[in-house]
Amino acid sequence: MGGRGTAVVRGPDVAVPADPADPGPWLRANQVFLLLCAPALLLLALAVVFLVPDVLRPGAAPVVLTAGLLAPPVAVLAFVRHRRTGRPQGWWSVWATALIAVLAVTVADPAFRQTTVAALVVGPLYAAMTSTARSMAGHLALTVAVASGLVAVLPGDPLVRTARVVAVDVVLVLTVAGLFVLRARLDAAVARAVAARDRADELAARDPLTGLLNRRGVRDALAGLGDRSVGAVLLDVDHFKRVNDTFGHGAGDEVLVRVAAVLAATVRPGDLLARIGGEEFFVLAPGAGAQEVAALAERLRVAVAADGGVPPVTVSAGAAARPPRGTVPDVLDELYARVDRLLYRAKAEGRDRVCAEPDAGEVPTARRTVQA
Ligand code: GH3
Ligand code: MG
Ligand code: MG
Repeated sequence: MGGRGTAVVRGPDVAVPADPADPGPWLRANQVFLLLCAPALLLLALAVVFLVPDVLRPGAAPVVLTAGLLAPPVAVLAFVRHRRTGRPQGWWSVWATALIAVLAVTVADPAFRQTTVAALVVGPLYAAMTSTARSMAGHLALTVAVASGLVAVLPGDPLVRTARVVAVDVVLVLTVAGLFVLRARLDAAVARAVAARDRADELAARDPLTGLLNRRGVRDALAGLGDRSVGAVLLDVDHFKRVNDTFGHGAGDEVLVRVAAVLAATVRPGDLLARIGGEEFFVLAPGAGAQEVAALAERLRVAVAADGGVPPVTVSAGAAARPPRGTVPDVLDELYARVDRLLYRAKAEGRDRVCAEPDAGEVPTARRTVQA
């Protein structure tokens, strides 16, 4: 997107910030679901064994109790694995279906068995929250088959039995499919919001005329560099006002885009290039010391001067390297203030030159580089 029809120069990429859709230390809904299933299944087993033992087949109480007591450790294992791997635990869905089927078989009372069958929904619900459509459909098919079998063997008139099976299956399918559709729509909405946020961040970090980073983009990118040493170069187009006055503002814009392209082609891979003022460009060179950054500034100056564009322009530059970590409150402000002073000197000393900070034991690396 170039302002006023001019081409856009892409600078080196900025570090991508962390995904805000990621709940980080917070639990996702499906993890909460997994954790809640454990006490729910345990409570169901305890309530049946101790409150209404008569609904169970004779001798079934130990089976129900064991199954109920197993639910928390197994759910916690599934939770931990899910959290560690980030992947759904399909085995848990199958395990929950099998466990509830066992509980349902131990129930003698037909009405109570139907209540237990309703709990079968947890397996495919978990799959609907976490898995692909195919995996969810597989878990749902398994559950529908198990639920149909459990309800079909209940005593009663064949027509009523068929109606019960159909009713249970319809409720299962609609509940699970409904949740899956809801989740898919939510996922799509979150993906759209994240893409819009990324795009807004990208636009906010870029200069619309040249496509280079702007001041905010530099600050964001610097935050991602950690404690590495960093060199900085501040470049300013010489007598740019004359370009505007002589050729017009549009031509001036084109010169800025041209200079941006030359700088972008000359910086090293990994350097950050920004346009931070009207005709001021800023380069951050991660890992560069004083000598290296002075040489880089000189290369940039020479590249602009040798560009061959019309009208020809030159730049003046100040170059400095990052102070030791922890010695200043804001590295960017401190570096900027230093390279700005050096740039001012380069201007005062005649323009089309680099003014660099001295580095112990160094000799100037470029003909026109002036050590401060
Ligand atoms: P010096 O060598 O001392 O830097 O002189 P200069 O003329 O480059 O500096 P000065 O600060 O006097 O003028 C800068 C000019 O840059 C003034 C302003 O109109 C122009 N400018 C700022 N932003 C833009 C822009 O986006 N497009 C154009 N075409 N001109 C701009
Ligand atoms: Mg200028
Ligand atoms: Mg200026």
